[in-house]
Amino acid sequence: MPHSHHSHSGQFCSHAKDTLSEVLSRAHSLGFTHFHLSEHVPRHSLIHLYPEEIEAGKTPEDLEATFSDYLTHARQLQSSYMGKMEVLVGCESENIKGDRSIDELLRILSDHQVRGGDPLPTSNASLPSSSQHPSVAGLGVVDYVVGSVHHSNSIPIDFDPPTFQKALDSFQAEAPAAAGGNQDGDMSLSSYDRLMIDYFDSQYDTMKRLRPEVIGHFDLCRLYFPSKRLELSRKEAISQGGGDGGDQEEDDPIWSRVRRNVEYAASYGALFECNAASFRKGWSSAYPGKEVLELIKAVRGRLCLSDDSHGVQAVALNYHKLRPYLRESGVEEIWYLERDDERRAIDIEAEEALRLERIRSEAPGTGAPTRFPRGTKAIRMGREWMEHAFWDRYEAIVGV
Ligand SMILES: [Zn+2]
Ligand SMILES: [Zn+2]
Repeated sequence: MPHSHHSHSGQFCSHAKDTLSEVLSRAHSLGFTHFHLSEHVPRHSLIHLYPEEIEAGKTPEDLEATFSDYLTHARQLQSSYMGKMEVLVGCESENIKGDRSIDELLRILSDHQVRGGDPLPTSNASLPSSSQHPSVAGLGVVDYVVGSVHHSNSIPIDFDPPTFQKALDSFQAEAPAAAGGNQDGDMSLSSYDRLMIDYFDSQYDTMKRLRPEVIGHFDLCRLYFPSKRLELSRKEAISQGGGDGGDQEEDDPIWSRVRRNVEYAASYGALFECNAASFRKGWSSAYPGKEVLELIKAVRGRLCLSDDSHGVQAVALNYHKLRPYLRESGVEEIWYLERDDERRAIDIEAEEALRLERIRSEAPGTGAPTRFPRGTKAIRMGREWMEHAFWDRYEAIVGV
């Protein structure tokens, strides 16, 4: 059971620490049975490099080469842990306007396929390599994708507060031009409203174009304002002045996007990660926050655990806060990914027809497939996940 679907290492990421092998060894010693790797995909223009990358004299070409090295090295480590700990090799996506993030990622993944990569013995060896369906992008190169968005208007929203302010300001500056042509036709949208609309639209685009098996930190757009409600600011102001807050209305341009995205991901069986990195950033909950968690449960979406670690010290960091958060939110089941050795091909068109039926239903996650075309399957665990021997052992080792 003990698992994480989201991790990084200093070997392949400038803002992380330690080697990939050290990270895995820590996960193994903490008793993880499933520890999955998801290095950041490369960014492609100089303006999107982070300060530490520029300082180190890195270029976008270097980032791409590093990512390539990661894919090779991660496969070696995966085999070395075979039988000891399940390790999947994945990546964490970006969707930066002007950086063609997803196009470039698709190019890199198909490049690796052409070069032979190191295809896993998955169920889909029979799929035509020309298949363009997003759920097979990177087949044989990555086992799964963490679908994340870290930018709005091409500006990072999780780097530091001043950079987040820059992202907000970029929407303010857009206001006069957007006023007439805004798709919601509402001039009173605040810059934060616009940022969130942009964020959730980028997230939806990521889901449609990559069909990520794992949805990364769903509500990262409120990192620096954890109590920010996912609805128009003026409604937030009214409800905060007038009482208990009430329910979000379905016609709210922000909440309706949240619902759309959750339903879409649930309909193809994605796992929404409960990401513990938020605790070290000062949140009292994991990502996603409570109301999103409730929505995911309501549509029968699946939840999994992630530490989003960026080095040995962060492996399983704050997992002891994750468990009570989920328990108090009434999370009865948890899911995790592992390699699908069934080797039975998936009929993607037939699956898609069923998905379209599900998305029209009340709970689009009901009956969603548990096998993914990139070669993994989702395993369900009932309430026993909370009582797993891992927790005592973990708490003793880390001393919480
Ligand atoms: Zn990172
Ligand atoms: Zn991330």
